[in-house]
Amino acid sequence: MFETAIAGSLPKPAWLSETHKLWPQWKAEGDALRQAKADATLLWIKAQEDAGLDIIGDGEQSRQHFVHGFLEQVDGIDFEHKVKMGIRDNRYDAMVPQVVSALKLKGRVHAFEAQLARAHTRHKLKFTLPGPMTIVDTVADRFYGDKIKMAFAFAELLNQEALALQADGVDIVQFDEPAFNVYMKDAADWGVKALERAAQGLTCTTAVHICYGYGIKANVDWKNTLGDEWRQYEQIFPALAKSSIQQVSLECYHSHVPPHLMKLLEGKDVMVGVIDVASDVIETPEQVADTIGLALKYVSKHRLFPCTNCGLAPMDRDIALKKLDALAKGAALARKRHREAAQD
Ligand code: ZN
Repeated sequence: MFETAIAGSLPKPAWLSETHKLWPQWKAEGDALRQAKADATLLWIKAQEDAGLDIIGDGEQSRQHFVHGFLEQVDGIDFEHKVKMGIRDNRYDAMVPQVVSALKLKGRVHAFEAQLARAHTRHKLKFTLPGPMTIVDTVADRFYGDKIKMAFAFAELLNQEALALQADGVDIVQFDEPAFNVYMKDAADWGVKALERAAQGLTCTTAVHICYGYGIKANVDWKNTLGDEWRQYEQIFPALAKSSIQQVSLECYHSHVPPHLMKLLEGKDVMVGVIDVASDVIETPEQVADTIGLALKYVSKHRLFPCTNCGLAPMDRDIALKKLDALAKGAALARKRHREAAQD
């Protein structure tokens, strides 16, 4: 009951890359960079296990950014000539690569870090990939001329890598789709279908993470415009509930999401965000357990997985460590509180 996990990313150590950035520059290259990525991955596996988390990830230490890390291994993308583009409905500008011809994988994308992580933890291993719709929103199209067509082209490539990750021993493949919360109608119309294409044929657990973004200023400013009630999930969850995706990761603590929207995910596992990634204040175990208690009104106890609201990549490393600790301690307290209820 209440198996804990992080959404995906963790801060990169200062010797691996720049810190506090979404697109940090690496501090090494070639073999030295590969070794540094491996060292950082092992360090974070140990930290997650020491904190007492149940489901472990690689902390995305081997990719510069959660979308572009995947795109670097795709043929048909011009990384040399990035262009400035407003992403997430122009919430912020990013330098994005361009799609210039038909898309094809150059080979495996994440074999190195997935196999490394698998060899070094006995816990359940979760591995994240960007979702097709979010990729389409983080790249400039000079070839397909059709968003949906391009999304399904990416979904096929994601599916190839996801099946290979499963063969590497990954237990949960999670697709990150923050774009679902921005283009809700498109998400319900075709985004969920593209996601299912990406997950096609997987027999391991499948998951999707939908959030209000990293704790960066542009996102915090955006959230301040969303009003007292954030009802974006209301438009996407019904389509997800009908889909083949098994787990949904959502933002809860310190958000303005009406908690009863979790009811729309009946039949799914729900990874409930109990840790705020936009604040350096460390949650107390009581606060975490209270959020779990609130979610229990809408999610059955065996389907509730306490999680972080989003990735922790841009945070201070020591704060992230303390947040992992709070997550595990809060879930332990919740288990104590709800143990009797679980026996009936
Ligand atoms: Zn997120």
